[in-house]
Amino acid sequence: MGTNGAGSANKLTGMNRRTNKNRPVSTNRLTRKDGRLITNRRGVLLAAIFCAAASLAFVAAADAQRRDARTKSPHAAQSPPAARAGGEARRVAVTFDDLPMTGDGGRSSGEQVAENLKKIAETLKANDVPAIGFVNENKLEAPGQREARTDALRAWLDAGFDLGNHTYSHRSFYRTPLAAFEQEVIKGEPVTKQLLAERGKSLRYFRHPFLNTGRTLADKRAFEKFLAARGYEVAPVTVDNSEWVFAQAYSDAIRGGDDAKRRRLAAEYAPYMETMFEFYERLSRDLFKREIPQVLLVHANQLNGDHFAEIVSMLKARGYSFITLDEALADPAYRSSDGYVGDVGVSWLQRWRVTRGQAFRPEPPLPEYARRFDADIRGASFKTRAER
Ligand SMILES: [Zn+2]
Repeated sequence: MGTNGAGSANKLTGMNRRTNKNRPVSTNRLTRKDGRLITNRRGVLLAAIFCAAASLAFVAAADAQRRDARTKSPHAAQSPPAARAGGEARRVAVTFDDLPMTGDGGRSSGEQVAENLKKIAETLKANDVPAIGFVNENKLEAPGQREARTDALRAWLDAGFDLGNHTYSHRSFYRTPLAAFEQEVIKGEPVTKQLLAERGKSLRYFRHPFLNTGRTLADKRAFEKFLAARGYEVAPVTVDNSEWVFAQAYSDAIRGGDDAKRRRLAAEYAPYMETMFEFYERLSRDLFKREIPQVLLVHANQLNGDHFAEIVSMLKARGYSFITLDEALADPAYRSSDGYVGDVGVSWLQRWRVTRGQAFRPEPPLPEYARRFDADIRGASFKTRAER
């Protein structure tokens, strides 16, 4: 889908050095010359796909980290034992965005949506992985599918997982006025809120679509106040990634009957995600002198329905244990100052870096095979650019 890759016109120009928390940091720094970065004409689909990430967290020891840095194998059996530092192991909170389902171009039936989310839940349960899913309630409104899609969320909750608000229709806060964006939050609440209430739970977490936190620092701060007043906590992401490129190409391969493409994408998924974990582990060590509990962003897509178990295995091999978002956010690192404002949604680790006056660190590229799909799915590669 989409058109040109986002990369060519991207500017990851040099970060300025403003560190005053009351001033925006890196505004427009990641902005395309044409001012259209992540969203495209089919922004709704991409939005659903791209929203930033989830959460996996860990804390690790320096020597174990050095060993990990030398270990490129995605295979658990060959990987080092759990990284430890000062008795702390790596920890990660897993978050799924765009429930009940994304990456399928909206083509799945209600039953397929329910089945896919059930498969993700079964993988999580089998591995004792807690998780929270962030809902776009407009995705419940496919004609004739409302009940089946809502049932998918019920089953997710009944399997022991949590739900949060990801706005009604996944608009970018960068391109949506504050008042309208606040309405997107309110409009995204009723079904999720009721399902949680029926189970004695409340709607507590908010995840920004595209990880975009607003066009100006004033909007960002005003929205944070709005969220707090409605009882929300922001769900940050530290392990941002382009898993959605794999997922969309994977669903396309299935739909097109291209089994070789499907298998190739599946085979490259976990190694790619391991590369991203290595990157954010290093970023955490450079920033905090330790590996903080990470928050992983992935999506409720077919790729994870079929292959999230491989991500869990990769993480176990890297020494991760799985924690709730609550547990991850209890780490003081999550109270770091975030003055980042920009067109591009990025990891909170990058935000904290930039707020401290350090440069945005270009992120690892997609593997060669997956990059060809980025030509059709714009927006994935711009964070890997180092044009300065
Ligand atoms: Zn999203």
